[in-house]
Amino acid sequence: MKTVAIVLAAGKGKRMKSDAPKQYLMLKDMPVLCYALKAFEESLVDEVILVTGREEIEYCRSQIVEAYGFSKVTQIVEGGKERYHSVYAGLVALKDADYVFIHDGARPFVSPQMIQKLYEEVNVHGAVVAGMPVKDTIKLVDENQFVKETPNRKSVWLVQTPQVFAYRDIFAAYEKLIDEEAQVTERGIQVTDDAMVLETFGGKKVKLVETGYENIKITTPEDLPVARVFMGILGL
Ligand code: C5P
Repeated sequence: MKTVAIVLAAGKGKRMKSDAPKQYLMLKDMPVLCYALKAFEESLVDEVILVTGREEIEYCRSQIVEAYGFSKVTQIVEGGKERYHSVYAGLVALKDADYVFIHDGARPFVSPQMIQKLYEEVNVHGAVVAGMPVKDTIKLVDENQFVKETPNRKSVWLVQTPQVFAYRDIFAAYEKLIDEEAQVTERGIQVTDDAMVLETFGGKKVKLVETGYENIKITTPEDLPVARVFMGILGL
């Protein structure tokens, strides 16, 4: 069984309003991205493909992969405009695997234990996604911010990464998405995670697996102090 992780770090991080994209900001003594790479390095995953912007490939090679000795990173490839373009670039580079973990480089608190749990679940269910039930009530609103619906809280989850799939299924679904990209964009559909691609273009069921509320994505400036608090709690 060959298991590969695609770690995404090609986003510009505009919502962070900082000079460097969020995945390269320092958290204690390492850039944010290093935490996820370290978790995969210490996990059952065989190989890691790092996806980044064209201008950051050399920086990632020398300052991240070589500097921290991430020996499982076998390729650093150029991502694309949207997150799904970056995932597709990783899937194309990968060529062959049984299972693939797709992970946001901006989520530093993924752990080898989470990876193990997701691996066990994907072996049973074929497609699994990290997540947690929401704590707040969620409202669906119309374009003028008037409430349309209040879904039952029990059936609403926050979706995280890693999202883990049989490589063949997710690659086939992504090929279809890329083929039909013009129609998808025309219909105003925003592709924001991988499970959605499999549900829409692969017709497969995806199971959510509880990971932990600490598995946050660093997106806006207030996420950094929150991340520092979690570092303390997790003993990192
Ligand atoms: O933008 P968002 O917060 O959804 O990004 C999630 C992850 O996807 C981040 O780690 C980001 O670097 C990555 N990404 C990417 N290519 C893009 C956009 C986002 O690799 N075009």
